[in-house]
Amino acid sequence: MNTYQIAVIAGDGIGPEVMEQALRVLNAAERQDNFRLECKEFSWNSEYYLKHGRMMPEDGMERLKSFDAILFGAIGDARVPDEVTIWELIMPIRKQFRQYVNFRPVKSLPGIPSPLANGDHIDFVIFRENAEGEYSDSGGRLYAGQEGEIAVQNTIMTRAGVERIARAAGSYAEKHGLKKVTSATKSNAVIHANKLWDEHVSRVMAEEFGGLEFEQYYVDALAAYFVQRPQSFEVVLASNLFGDILSDLGSGIVGGLGLSPSGNINPEKDYPSMFEPVHGSAPDIAGKGIANPIAQIWSAALMLEHLGEHKAAKRILEAIEAVLTEGAVRTKDIGGDATTAQMGEAILLAMKKKKNVKSEG
Ligand code: NAD
Ligand code: MN
Repeated sequence: MNTYQIAVIAGDGIGPEVMEQALRVLNAAERQDNFRLECKEFSWNSEYYLKHGRMMPEDGMERLKSFDAILFGAIGDARVPDEVTIWELIMPIRKQFRQYVNFRPVKSLPGIPSPLANGDHIDFVIFRENAEGEYSDSGGRLYAGQEGEIAVQNTIMTRAGVERIARAAGSYAEKHGLKKVTSATKSNAVIHANKLWDEHVSRVMAEEFGGLEFEQYYVDALAAYFVQRPQSFEVVLASNLFGDILSDLGSGIVGGLGLSPSGNINPEKDYPSMFEPVHGSAPDIAGKGIANPIAQIWSAALMLEHLGEHKAAKRILEAIEAVLTEGAVRTKDIGGDATTAQMGEAILLAMKKKKNVKSEG
C-alpha cells in the first residue's frame, strides 16, 4: 500500500473551514482506494505571525522539504500586510521548491451556468510560469513623493525557465491525448522578454512536440477569444503575469472562485508540490461556515493525481460533479444556502454511492 506524507497548511479566514472538508474527503478516498495519507498540520498563518513575528519558523522550509506534497488553504488577514503573508509563506515555498508550473484547470461543471451566452463545455488547462517573468524583485522606486517619482520593474525570463514550462505544457498535452498548445505573448510590442519567450517556446514545441498543433496569440486578443470561443482551447501556456490574469478570467467564465483549484508543481519531484484553491482567505465570509469547499476539495484531488492516485482523484471529481448535477446542495456563491459542512458531506455521500454502484455492478 502506498503511503504519502502530506503537509497541511490551512492558513487564515476560510482556509481552515474549507480544509476541514477536504481532509474528510481525502480520508474517505484513502479508505476506498487503498492508499495512506499521513497528514501533518502546520499552523503557520497570520495568528502565528502576530505571536512570533514570522510566518513560519526559521527551519520551516527545511521541515517541509521531505513531504510528498503540501496541501494549502488560503492566507491573508487584515492585521498583517499582504506582502508579508504572501512573500514570507507562499513565495518561498513556490520558489525554493522549484514549483515552476502553476497548473489551473478551467472546466465547465454541471449545473453551474457560465456568464457567457455560449459558455458550455469549456475544458482546458492553463500552464502559468510560476517562478520568474514579470513578478521579479528586481527594480525599485526612486524620488518617492517628488513630482519626478519613478518606478522600474524588471521582467526576467531565462531560456532555461521558458524551455521547462513549455516542456511541461507539451508533455501534459501528449500524456492526456490533447492535440493543441496555445501560447500567450505580447511580442508585437517591443518587449524583449516576450521575444525570448516566443523563440524558445516555438522551438521546444517544434523540436520535441512535433505531433502537437501549436499556436500563439497576443495575450490581449487571447483574452477576447477566451470569451468568444473558449471551447477552442486545450492547453494554454503563459508567462507569470499573463497566466495570472488569464486564469482568473478562466475561473470567471466557468463559475467563479469557489470552484477553482490550482497546483504549484515541481515536475521533477525533487521537492514537494503544493496544491491550493485559487481564492484567498475571503475575510468577508470567514467564520460563517458558508464558504464553498469545492475549490479546496478539487485541489486535494489534483494532489492525488500528482501523487499517482488517479482513480481516487477521478472519484472525487465525479462526486463533485454528481452533487452539482443533482443540485440540491449548493453554497451561497453558487446560488444556494448550504453550509460548508453540508457541501462536504454531500460530496462524501456521492463518493460512497459511486463505490456501491461499482461493487454491485
Ligand atoms: P478572495 O478570493 O479571498 O475573495 C474574493 C471574493 O470571492 C470574496 O467576496 C469572497 O467571499 C469570495 N470567495 C472566495 N472564495 C470563496 C469560496 N470558497 N466560497 C465562496 N465565496 C468565496 O480575494 P480577496 O478578497 O481579494 O483577498 C482576501 C485576502 O486573501 C487578502 O488578504 C489576499 O491577499 C488573500 N489572498 C490569498 C491568496 C492565497 O492564499 N493564495 C490568494 C488570493 C488572495
Ligand atoms: Mn491571481
